[in-house]
Amino acid sequence: MNNVATEIVLKDATTSLAEYEAAGGYAALAQARALTPEQVTDELITSELRGRGGAFFPTGRKWSFVPPKNTLPKPHYLVVNADESEPGSFKDNEILSRVPHRFIEGCLITAHAIDCTNVFVYIRGEYSGPYEILVGALEELRDRKDIRGDVTIVVHRGAGAYICGEETALLESLEGKRGQPRSKPPFPAISGLYASPTVVNNVETIATVPPIIAMGGAEFAKLGVENTRGTRVVSISGNVVNGGNYEIEAGMSLRDIIYDLGGGIPDGRTLKAVVPGGSSTVILTKDEIDVGYDFESLAKLQTSMGSAGIVVLDDRCCIVQLGIRFSEFYEHESCGKCTPCREGTRWLTAILRKLEDGRAGEHELDLLLDVCDRINGKCLCPLGDSDAIIVASYVAKFRDEFVAHIEEGGCPFGGASSLDHVLAPVAMHTHSPVAEVPA
Ligand code: SF4
Repeated sequence: MNNVATEIVLKDATTSLAEYEAAGGYAALAQARALTPEQVTDELITSELRGRGGAFFPTGRKWSFVPPKNTLPKPHYLVVNADESEPGSFKDNEILSRVPHRFIEGCLITAHAIDCTNVFVYIRGEYSGPYEILVGALEELRDRKDIRGDVTIVVHRGAGAYICGEETALLESLEGKRGQPRSKPPFPAISGLYASPTVVNNVETIATVPPIIAMGGAEFAKLGVENTRGTRVVSISGNVVNGGNYEIEAGMSLRDIIYDLGGGIPDGRTLKAVVPGGSSTVILTKDEIDVGYDFESLAKLQTSMGSAGIVVLDDRCCIVQLGIRFSEFYEHESCGKCTPCREGTRWLTAILRKLEDGRAGEHELDLLLDVCDRINGKCLCPLGDSDAIIVASYVAKFRDEFVAHIEEGGCPFGGASSLDHVLAPVAMHTHSPVAEVPA
């Protein structure tokens, strides 16, 4: 992890309790406990922190939606979404691994703010390393009631389903049911885990809470830009010299992130495109990177920071192959609850494969966009929409490349696409039964 502009999330990176306390750890918790829950929530509202999981909802406001126990006499729960599975994102892994006590401190402050004594951390099943570190850190607190208070933190390991990163599917899974999204409303703040008021926050969001309390919400809000305050931990990967996690001040130019922090494109190649916030975000061309890495600037380009996984693609990357990789992923991870997603993602993969293999005619390009249209906006959760939106963006911005696949009867890169060096296969597949899409 590289701390660049500031040290908000990763200040005093350390895993042991003794080192963390020596560096001032858990002082913010004491500060918070000297305040009322409402005052802590107000600090978060003042900070303008927005959720770092992708939805970008204002954190303090989310906390404020939890009804007081005298109006709804049910337990309150904090559930932390550590099911980081978005292709391109790996920041939460490093936060949990390097500053587990900062994360735990954030959990305890949040628990105080929402008047809860039960915290559940839902961690991606494959994250064995971070799991061990987190459990070890919690073990260090076993005899430290002065820190733990009355709060119990349970770490629950997921079973490898991307959809369980969607907050209501996560709650279903945590309750022991099949991990499928719920209809909203009701929202979790009113009826979440076990039908009780529940705040669901992402790991980075929670790890940002202690410094906000320590420095004050108003001071935190001086960092970054309007609508995106503070810092952001970005994961940079792909065709870039220095891949890794970097903490940046929000609003830094995407060009500077790629070329100054990431070291630019290796092997003398040139930039072709950037996936700015994980696989679910609309692609940017090389001419669109002079943009601030913040909510509003990226929204003007119809894309977003998402989960801050920046995937850099050089001039050898085949965009059709990129579409296949991501579409296969969504097809594989679709929970199957709604038809447009369950069937549509299979169709997208099948049509993209026909294009790549040189079996597609021009009408298949129209069919591809038609299927995108039949998925987008017609699904219960964002998974199906994500596949449709990104595939449509690939066609919109790289149409010539799709047409070249048709005209040349296959991939114009002739097997020399750099994609194999960019992303490990996300799902192993045989061809779908719908591979033979209607002519
Ligand atoms: Fe399941 Fe896909 Fe529907 Fe989401 S959009 S509920 S993943 S079938």
